Amino acid sequence: MPDLYAALGVSRQATTEEIRSAYKSLSLQHHPDRPTGNEAKFKEIQEAHEVLSDEGRRAAYDRTGSIQEGGSVGGFPGFGGFGFPGGNPMAAGGIPFSFMGGGGFGIPEVHFDMGDMFNGLFGGGAGKPRRRGGKGPNKFHDIGVRIQDFYKGHDIKLKFNQARKCTGCSGSGAEATEPCAPCGGAGRRTMMRPIGPNMIAQTQVDCEICSGEGKRVMRVCRGCQGKKLVESEKQLEIKVGPGMRDGQKVPFVGACSDSLEYDTPGDVVLTLQCVVPESYEWKGDDLWVTTKITYAESVLGFTKTLADHPSGREIVVSWQGGPLLHGATLRREGLGMPLMPLMPLMPSGGQGSAGPSHGALYLRIQVVPPPVVPWSSEDAAKLQSVLGGVAASLSPTGETLAFVPPS
Ligand SMILES: [Zn+2]
Ligand SMILES: [Zn+2]
Repeated sequence: MPDLYAALGVSRQATTEEIRSAYKSLSLQHHPDRPTGNEAKFKEIQEAHEVLSDEGRRAAYDRTGSIQEGGSVGGFPGFGGFGFPGGNPMAAGGIPFSFMGGGGFGIPEVHFDMGDMFNGLFGGGAGKPRRRGGKGPNKFHDIGVRIQDFYKGHDIKLKFNQARKCTGCSGSGAEATEPCAPCGGAGRRTMMRPIGPNMIAQTQVDCEICSGEGKRVMRVCRGCQGKKLVESEKQLEIKVGPGMRDGQKVPFVGACSDSLEYDTPGDVVLTLQCVVPESYEWKGDDLWVTTKITYAESVLGFTKTLADHPSGREIVVSWQGGPLLHGATLRREGLGMPLMPLMPLMPSGGQGSAGPSHGALYLRIQVVPPPVVPWSSEDAAKLQSVLGGVAASLSPTGETLAFVPPS
């Protein structure tokens, strides 16, 4: 198995933030839809992130050096790994990045695979899960969402298999039962154990014949084959709306599977992880993009077309306002990300006034100078007339060393 830290290019001490950031830039670079894409590498990155972004699984990996399956750690109820329905070229599972709905990645929906869970609960020799009662643990997962989907809004549908208590047998697994004879239907038996001279301890233990149920199955439920749970395909719909933010959590109360351990299922909590083109940064309501210009453009001004703006439009930016230094910042209102709408979005029919307004777009200027600017004394004289100042001259005293460009 490849080293998960190496797959993300981070150290074993990497923080959650470093892991997330490495994951984002690598998945973007290697996404199969991109010219630089590499499906095998992409999958490796996804798997590494799946494990390392989950504290429990990361700790287990650090300890054992092996990957535990997502949904089956300790008979954990909920989802197993993510996977895609058959036929998809990327259907190798474990690819949360690609929850792009009907977007440009051509993956209309995704599928949670709960096979692990059933193996954990019913697999041979797994034993009877310990009853814990109460609400089951929540299950967390990251969903990759492209920045343009945050910008315009986007619906994501997630298909997954969800187990519920069998309604045919009310979760008992049996169509007909009879009271367990050895325990008289109590499910408990009293054990006597000598603990010293003339001393006997009495303890109550679960009846081993009926596993504490107090009854024996006469006829297994046909609805669930005695498994007590029935699996069916469910769909979660996530409405990514303008104004939502990178890292936003979307909870689905009780969407985890029912289990034999807990009374009620836990929540599925999805975290929207924004995937931004390398050149862009999303800060608050604003977008930042690094723009490289030549030395000549830094002096004379420039016109540039920005690729990959999340609006999908070609944004042409220009500057004619005088010389710019390396590191300068230019700003334009209204080209950033949508602001959080103050009022809930209007129901259909009454379209809201002007739609959400937007933050600003910042250009971070990087001047890429040529190694040497060709120059003559006439050029110097012309610039001197614009800029003022004094042309360089030989020092009247001491030795002057004239430099020449490298050949
Ligand atoms: Zn019994
Ligand atoms: Zn049943």
